[in-house]
Order: sequence, then structure tokens, then C-alpha cells
Amino acid sequence: MTASPTPTPVASDDQPIVHLKPRVEPDAMAWRNLRRDAFWQQIPAFADVSAEEFATFKWQEKNAVTSPKRLVERVRDLVSDEFVEDVRKGFAIAPMAVRISPYLLSLIDWSSPYTDPIRRQFLPLGSEHQADHPLLTLDSLHEQGDAPVPGLTHRYPDKALFLALDTCPVYCRFCTRSYAVGLDTEEVEKVSLKASKARWARALRYLRERPDIEDVVISGGDAYRLKPAQIKEIGHALLDIPHIRRFRYATKGLAIMPVRIKPGDPWLEAITEVVDRGRKLHKEVVIHTHFNHPNEATGFSQDMANTFFERGITVRNQSVLQRGVNDDPATMQLLVKRLGWLNIQPYYVYVHDLVRGTEDLRTTVSTALELEKGIRGSTAGFNTPTFVVDALGGGGKRDAHSFEFYNRETGVSVYTAPSVKADQLFMYFDPLRDLSPSVQADWNDPKRRQAMIDSALESARREMS
Ligand SMILES: *Cc1c(COP(=O)(O)O)cnc(C)c1O
Ligand code: SF4
Repeated sequence: MTASPTPTPVASDDQPIVHLKPRVEPDAMAWRNLRRDAFWQQIPAFADVSAEEFATFKWQEKNAVTSPKRLVERVRDLVSDEFVEDVRKGFAIAPMAVRISPYLLSLIDWSSPYTDPIRRQFLPLGSEHQADHPLLTLDSLHEQGDAPVPGLTHRYPDKALFLALDTCPVYCRFCTRSYAVGLDTEEVEKVSLKASKARWARALRYLRERPDIEDVVISGGDAYRLKPAQIKEIGHALLDIPHIRRFRYATKGLAIMPVRIKPGDPWLEAITEVVDRGRKLHKEVVIHTHFNHPNEATGFSQDMANTFFERGITVRNQSVLQRGVNDDPATMQLLVKRLGWLNIQPYYVYVHDLVRGTEDLRTTVSTALELEKGIRGSTAGFNTPTFVVDALGGGGKRDAHSFEFYNRETGVSVYTAPSVKADQLFMYFDPLRDLSPSVQADWNDPKRRQAMIDSALESARREMS
């Protein structure tokens, strides 16, 4: 019998633990501080609105701002004449319809409206306007070109995008679907993607006829605008298709009007019914939402996120990278950590698409690469978003790092998408303002522009061979 080895002495409880990592002060963990003050009372018209009233869907809907005129009325006493004039000019050139929830309107810091990150996403200013990129087209992602039936894009092998409707609870300046969502503005005549039984029936029929499709994104427009009966109608119809294993409802609603999500709300109950039935059928039904800045998340968002969590409903987030909104490492870090704290999984950060009238919001691919570097390692890998470029012309989402070639001087990046469209090259173009004056001049000259593009494509082919 051998003697058991002498155990290493264990420190007794009264001995201090040596902390190898420096302590972190609570203030440095700002993502945990979700405001619960009466922030809406800064808006004169909402000064007497109670928390109970503010937190109702009905009140939020009734007080949504849907015209530049009404917007100016709301904040007239908080901003300068100069700012009011700037907003008027901005709306005159904006190709988007206007809609902003009182929740968002109240979260804007009206004492610094020029730099506020929420203002930048929803209210265009004349003074910030930048000329569109010379190669911008309205449907830059080719969603219509990849649509076998109107409003159903089948680009990837096993998944499809179903644009169920064309309205949203807010209208974002940066929206990729500005070719379809919102009312027609003077600038743009839209493609119709209204919620229609006949159009939905054709989309569902297409999905039934395609056993290769396992995954559906229900978007629009925005699923917050689907009536509870429509949530169920689409949800149950998809659950009934044997080869569909998972689908997501895409809605910005959770980010811009979280107060709606309360037990008993018919929309929430409809989602829950579909998720629960999906679970029994071993199918995954989740929600994808869209926070872009940490200021968008408050105590109301925490209550909303907890409600979904208690019901076992997964919520993931997709952000759009925007200049002056979330393009600095500290802000992006705060957003990612805050979402993680709320049990909302940061899934994607999209490099801003080429969208009319939003050139001032775009950033470069290299910005995305830098941000990713700063974030990876700061939290769980599954809460670290992938930075993606939705390649022009329908190549689909590509990891921003995966370019075949990227010339930071001309701002041209070249991607391939072997599993989507083999043998094709796809490009993305950095905004001109980040390029040198002489390269900017080249972009505005059709011949020299073509030469830059040809040279980038050639370099990519050379890299790949
Ligand atoms: C984004 C998208 C999807 C879903 O892609 P994921 O990478 O799975 O989020 C599906 N179809 C289209 C056309 C898309 O743009
Ligand atoms: S809510 Fe979504 S679909 Fe609607 S305008 Fe905003 S980004 Fe576009």
C-alpha cells in the first residue's frame, strides 16, 4: 500500500486572494448601466407623460412623428433656428419616408443634435449631405434580381429572404430596402411589396416547391408591423413545410419601441405561440433585431429582453456600421457588451450598403477591420459579431476580412462568393471622402474610374491564381 501524496496546502479562507488582473471599477462597466430615468420628459410635449403612459404601445404609435413639420414642432424649443433650417433642407433631399417613435425621439440628446448618434440615423441634415457614390444603384444588393417571385429573394443555397410587407415602425435613413419600404417620396418611386394574400401565397408555394430551402428570414419592411394574425399565419405556414428547419422574424421594433413587449401583448403572444409550436416540431424560430448604438438600449429594453429570455426565445442583433454613430471602437465595444448583458446575441455588423442619400453615413472596409480587431477577445466569442460586407450585385454577405484584394488608396475591395455565385467577382467601394483628393478626382472621371476598377479586378484574379 502506497502512502497517499501529501496534499498541497490549500489557502485558508482568511488569506487574501492575489488578484492577477487589475480590478475594474463599476464605472468602467458602463454597458450595465441602463437608464431608467424619465428621459422623454425633456421633450416639452411629453413633459407630463407618466412612465405608465409612455410604456404603452398605443401611446407610442399615436405619438410617432411622421412628417418633418411635426418633428420640428416637437423639438422647436430645444434647438436653434439654424438646426431647424438644416433639418428642413435635409428632408427636402431625403429619399426616405419619415417615421420616428417617441421612444427614439426622446433618446436623442437635443442639446447636441448635430452629433447625437440617434439623430444621425433618423434625421437627415442638409449640411451633412454628401454626393452619392458614382456607382450607386437603387437596388445595389440585387435583391430584386434574385427574386423568383416578388418579395422572395433566393440567393443562397439553403435560405431565402421573404419580404412580407413594406412598412416599418420607423424609417431609417440608411435602409438598404429604400427601393421598397415606406411611402413614395418625391425622390423615389418604390417597388410594391405590400402585405398581400396573393403575393404571400406565391412565396409560400415557391418555398414548398424547394426542398433545398431550410431557412427563411421574414423581413420587409418590419415584422413589428405584421398583425398578430399575420405573424401566426406566416409562422404556422412555414412550420408546416417539412424541409424548413428554422426561420427568423426580423424586426427593428424591439430596439425602437421595446415598451410594446409585455406579457399579454397580442404580437408577443403570437410570436410565442409560433416559437412554442416550432420547439415541439424541433424547428428553431427566433427574432433578429437591430440596435446600432448603446444609447438605444434602456431599462425598457432590459425588461423586453428579459421577457423574451424567460420564454426561451432567442434574440439576435444585426447592426449597421455608420460613420459618427458606431464607427469608433469604444462605442462599438459598449454596444456589443450591452447587448451581451441583455442576452441579445450580437450576430452581424454590416458595412453600410450603398444607399441613396446616405453617403455621409458610410465608412470604409478598413474601419470595419479595425473595429473587429478591437472587439474580438473582449467578450465571449459567440457574442462577438462578424463584420460583413454585402457585396454589390448579389454576392451576398462576405466576412469583411475575406477580400481577395483591397486597395485602400482607391477604396476598391474585391470579394468572391464560391458557394453563392461561383466564378464571379464582387466589389465594394469605400466612400470617396476617405480617399485622397487626386483619387477622388479619378472617381469622378468615367475613364479613370473604369481603369481603377479594372486594375482591382485584375489584381484580385492575380492573387487568386
Ligand atoms: C442576409 C440574407 C439572408 C440570411 O443570411 P444569414 O447570413 O444566414 O443571416 C438570406 N437571404 C438573403 C437574400 C439575405 O440577404
Ligand atoms: S426598420 Fe429595417 S426595413 Fe425598416 S427602414 Fe429601418 S432598416 Fe429599413
